[in-house]
Amino acid sequence: MPTLESKDVVILGGGISGLTALHYVRRLHPNLSVLLCEAENRLGGTIGTDQVEGYSFDWGPNGFLDREPLTLELCHDLGLQEKIERANPNVSNRFILRGNRLRSVPMSPPKFLTSDILSVRGRMRVMLEPFSASRPEGTDESIYDFGKRRIGKEAADYLIQPMVSGVYGGMAERLSLQSCFPVMREMEDQYGSLFKAMISKARAARKRGEKSGGPSGPGGWLTSFEGGLYRLIEGFEANYSESIRVDCPATQVTRSDTGYRIEFSSGETEVAKNLILATPSNRAAEIVSELSPELSKALGAIDYAPISVICLGYDAGQIRDAVNGFGFLVPKLERRRLLGSIWTSSIFRHRAPEGKVQFRCMVGGDGDHDSIKLSDEELISIVTGELSEIMAVSGRPEMVRLYRWKHGIPQFKIGHIDRMAEIDRQLEKLGGIFVTGNAYHGIGLNDCVKQSFKVASSLSSLV
Ligand SMILES: Cc1cc2nc3c(=O)[nH]c(=O)nc-3n(C[C@H](O)[C@H](O)[C@H](O)COP(=O)(O)OP(=O)(O)OC[C@H]3O[C@@H](n4cnc5c(N)ncnc54)[C@H](O)[C@@H]3O)c2cc1C
Repeated sequence: MPTLESKDVVILGGGISGLTALHYVRRLHPNLSVLLCEAENRLGGTIGTDQVEGYSFDWGPNGFLDREPLTLELCHDLGLQEKIERANPNVSNRFILRGNRLRSVPMSPPKFLTSDILSVRGRMRVMLEPFSASRPEGTDESIYDFGKRRIGKEAADYLIQPMVSGVYGGMAERLSLQSCFPVMREMEDQYGSLFKAMISKARAARKRGEKSGGPSGPGGWLTSFEGGLYRLIEGFEANYSESIRVDCPATQVTRSDTGYRIEFSSGETEVAKNLILATPSNRAAEIVSELSPELSKALGAIDYAPISVICLGYDAGQIRDAVNGFGFLVPKLERRRLLGSIWTSSIFRHRAPEGKVQFRCMVGGDGDHDSIKLSDEELISIVTGELSEIMAVSGRPEMVRLYRWKHGIPQFKIGHIDRMAEIDRQLEKLGGIFVTGNAYHGIGLNDCVKQSFKVASSLSSLV
């Protein structure tokens, strides 16, 4: 069995997490030898873009929020600054489906009071938020229970739950508030009310002369690159190809005298003083199963929800209503298969040819595991059927691309904090082995970048 050269650092997984770890290991520790091994014959993991007849289709994520300085710094370091594309500022309108009609999500308190998104009673209950019961002590509360307690059941069903399925593909009843939206919990703890916290934060931002918001809401501005998100991965390829090996799935890791021995499906091995696992957590669990059954068990306890992205291209003439907005989300109570649709060609330029429209539709999530078993024809027929009822789209799409993610989005279910504590305990016991990725401290690209930076920084104390 041939043995490859031993390295200071080996990274397994070439999605955004592994690639960012590679970038920061190279930047922060230029003297260390580092190698990234990716199982597939391409880099990017869930990030990919197809250019087809003037359309640009993102396979998985379609952007990141510009609120994380590290991600912007990364784009700059990779020489991508000129290619950054921000979402169209004129499409801040978002919609929620209720009673088969798309209703605009009100973005200010006066608009909320006159909106038809909730009943009068539901709206009044939201306004009572500052007087809600406080959090039960010592519980890892679900997002749904938190929403119901603070702003009432109707708002939890029609505002919170669809937002959670839009971001996590998850069920608000199962997901942990503390793990998914720690900021909300902090706001409640610090100010006793979300409203009070928002008012206070907005005042402080105004004092600093900052303007928050944008088409993605107060959390930041949706940002991508001209031509699609894969440009980001091309940036890594252009800078680090000599440190990357593709088509190189790792199968097992065991101890060696100097660190860890990694076995690959080709029969090759690699020895590394430090090992960074940047694969999805379920794959990491398999890789470390011999090294540490305890770590493997803890990693394997993080569930994933499947998600399918169905990108549809239509002639603008096929759409009756103006596609003026960001897209819509579907509450579970509406009993549709669609989780939501993003109106990609309204948000970013050149995602569809002139006179055409692109919709990006999502099906699946933790509430619909069976969806991943549907055939392409079934999925397309469900999505086009529901879209034509909701948005009066007529006829068949002229272009369809379908991307299935069986282990699409990790679910930070109740108890995630304890699972993370156990993972950290086991990693510490082993020493020199790290995990990074969307399964641990946040699912967004910004979270992956932050975590990989942290892992690369922590190497300094070891090597
Ligand atoms: C449909 C969808 C839409 C999303 N939309 C957004 C969005 O708009 N904005 C946002 O911020 N986030 C979004 N996300 C989340 C975001 O995509 C992920 O958090 C992020 O891309 C995960 O990156 P990662 O590197 O941690 O994992 P991955 O992208 O899964 O990469 C892991 C890599 O490890 C490799 N690997 C697996 N096993 C092995 C092995 N044995 N040996 C070596 N390599 C291995 C895989 O091939 C893969 O390349 C979305 C996710 C999905 C699925």
